[in-house]
Amino acid sequence: MSPNPKGFVRLPQVEQLLQEPVLAPYISQLSRPLVTDVVRRVLSSIRQNAVASDITTEVLHQHLVYGCQALLNQRHTRVINATGTVVHTNLGRSPIDPALWDAVAAVNTGYCNLEIKLSDGKRGQRKGIVSQLLASLTGAEEGMVVNNNAASVYLLLNELARGKEVIVSRGEQIQIGGGFRIPDILALSGATLVEVGTTNITTADDYLNAITDNTAMVLMVHCSNFVVRGFTESADIREVARRLPESVVLAVDQGSGLSTEKFAANETPMNHYIRAGADLVCFSGDKILGGPQAGIICGRRELVQKLEKNPMMRAFRPGRMVYSLLEELLVRKLNRTPEGQGVAEKSVTGQEGIEQRAQQLAAALGSFSRLVPAQMVVGGGTLPDEFFPSWSVELQVNKPSEQVLSDLRAMPLPVIGVIRNDRVQLNMAAVLPRELPVLTDQLRSYLGL
Ligand SMILES: *Cc1c(COP(=O)(O)O)cnc(C)c1O
Repeated sequence: MSPNPKGFVRLPQVEQLLQEPVLAPYISQLSRPLVTDVVRRVLSSIRQNAVASDITTEVLHQHLVYGCQALLNQRHTRVINATGTVVHTNLGRSPIDPALWDAVAAVNTGYCNLEIKLSDGKRGQRKGIVSQLLASLTGAEEGMVVNNNAASVYLLLNELARGKEVIVSRGEQIQIGGGFRIPDILALSGATLVEVGTTNITTADDYLNAITDNTAMVLMVHCSNFVVRGFTESADIREVARRLPESVVLAVDQGSGLSTEKFAANETPMNHYIRAGADLVCFSGDKILGGPQAGIICGRRELVQKLEKNPMMRAFRPGRMVYSLLEELLVRKLNRTPEGQGVAEKSVTGQEGIEQRAQQLAAALGSFSRLVPAQMVVGGGTLPDEFFPSWSVELQVNKPSEQVLSDLRAMPLPVIGVIRNDRVQLNMAAVLPRELPVLTDQLRSYLGL
């Protein structure tokens, strides 16, 4: 075989390749050192597998671009959520309303009064008015914030039940997503698990009969991502609260953060648990509440204050980005303005908008699409088994569905769709209104329209 006439005598040097215009956009998005690594890797793999003279500039550039693009795909980037799962843990759970984001820009891009009292200049509390806002939302005396809800559960077990027993229903030994297992968290926290009841039935007596001198807590856990069907019974929390000895804390891991939203009839809002006599309730900030990633604990003042003094709080405390976003969200939620609605509430109560967007998209794609009724779920470990009506645009293209899904992910603004009945569907429930134009343009150009 004759050597490629356009090939290299010797491969170019790393420094020389870094000057190539094709790499400039990657350097600005990935940094020079990361692109340098890609260049080194590509050159060394070519040296091992090919002769320089067999490689053209074009092929070399292709390898470099391929390597850089693979890395760029790992960078955090916005995507369009066309899965129909509104709070999707793999897609970042709740998008923050741009109005909230803008409102907290100043406090985050300058210094702020995070731990200083403006009244007297002395050391202040990190949580600002978040505690009062949470109290108002949940009916609890006091609220506090940690980095996520797994930290909430750990903290309340570690502070209030370390070296003691915690009673949990067998039906609530849950695992959520990537390895959040109540028994594991219990073990780490130094508390001992006492299981009561059966998978489908746990009564108030089951809890009360298990109490010993060493019992510190009864922990009820919301079944976030599964439903036990059929002959089931869970204990009435009012009765447990009423009959529990003073010394035993009644804590509820409510999970979703549902409060005053009216759309989820089968889910118990946290204020209900507080009213029913729970001492502490914890939940995530980025599920139905619709805020940033956070764990929120609300309940009796004396207990919350104890939790705040736990040495692990130094590791669990959020920064000002989280506090300022939560403050902004909660103020608007309490004032019932639209920006105070989480994405779940917006989607479930905005079904007309979903249908409209689906119709518009289907119309723009003509015979390449079909409008199909669909369902949405809130997801992210909330409202298991509750489906709400939605609309999907099904793509009619002559390509394997997996290929289409992958093409959608490779678009400039990546689109995450789903396969239903072997067809790719774009469920419009979680496609934000402002994303419709770019989604339409991308699909039209994909379909050659
Ligand atoms: C989601 C969830 C968790 C975990 O919360 P993170 O904020 O993801 O740490 C714990 N318990 C319940 C009941 C949940 O729904």
